[in-house]
Amino acid sequence: MNTQQLTNAVRQEAIRLGFEGCGFSRAGFLEDEAGRLEAWLHGQKHGDMSWMENHFDKRLDPTLLVPGSKSVVSVLCSYNQPEVFSEHIKDDENPKISKYALGEDYHFVLKDKLFQLFEFTKQLNGGLEGRVFVDSAPVMDKAWAVKSGLGWMGKNTNILNRTHGSWFFLGEMIVDAEFHYDSPVSDHCGSCTRCIDACPTDAITPYQVDGSKCISYFTIELRDEIPAEYQDKLGNWIFGCDICQDVCPWNRKAKAGSEPRLAARQPLLSNNMEYWEELNLMEFRKLFKKNPVQRTKFEGLKRNIEAIKSNRS
Ligand code: SF4
Ligand code: SF4
Repeated sequence: MNTQQLTNAVRQEAIRLGFEGCGFSRAGFLEDEAGRLEAWLHGQKHGDMSWMENHFDKRLDPTLLVPGSKSVVSVLCSYNQPEVFSEHIKDDENPKISKYALGEDYHFVLKDKLFQLFEFTKQLNGGLEGRVFVDSAPVMDKAWAVKSGLGWMGKNTNILNRTHGSWFFLGEMIVDAEFHYDSPVSDHCGSCTRCIDACPTDAITPYQVDGSKCISYFTIELRDEIPAEYQDKLGNWIFGCDICQDVCPWNRKAKAGSEPRLAARQPLLSNNMEYWEELNLMEFRKLFKKNPVQRTKFEGLKRNIEAIKSNRS
């Protein structure tokens, strides 16, 4: 089997497994990203997320992270549910959880599929060394998605795909096989500035988000109190924030995803403030079993609920 045939077969299998896209890049040093990452970290745009400073060299070069690797295979898995999402955008009364966290934790879902794709590739290639990653700090997943043509980086720093908008997760296989490599697609943000204009905390400058000003950071990653100057900007967000994606025109007609495990759990969509205020630890554990909201822990979620409640009083 030649490189082109292997590439075609792996891409086809990725689609069969339920990924909406699969792109191939040659593994190597991410020259364009190096300066950007350094400036971002130097400017403290990562807030308290000190883990982002780790593995600097490995993040910029997957051949250091996975010795012997030759390729990065990026996959796209949509979680878009147009009917559910249009209600989620409209409803401005109930406390809100970011759309990516409404279903089963994507780490489990994507890893299960990626391991299957890895085994398939191994069989076809007569052996394969490498690793799979899902939203893992040492891998610059967005840069690899761009390189492999899965989308362009929008001004809100999400990867945008003409068919799937930005409602998707990314994963990677970093492996020692060679493939026929894809090329980046062009930027289709044009003169649009909707995400920049809509961001309540002015966290976005084109193609850069100041993580230390972002509601997603405050409600998910921050372990301390939410800074007073940003608390009244939270709106109804108790976990994450989708505003810069909700307003993006590319998300308006984005195609629905097909993975049932990512389907929104109804209780996460429709509960009011009283429900969230009364939620206890046992209920939290049950409700968010294998769900991304666990990341902020019970205490973090309660802090966020209290913060938006005090904004209402
Ligand atoms: S997620 Fe919210 S706070 Fe963060 S950049 Fe987007 S709109 Fe701004
Ligand atoms: S809202 Fe406009 S500028 Fe922002 S990412 Fe979408 S298309 Fe690009």
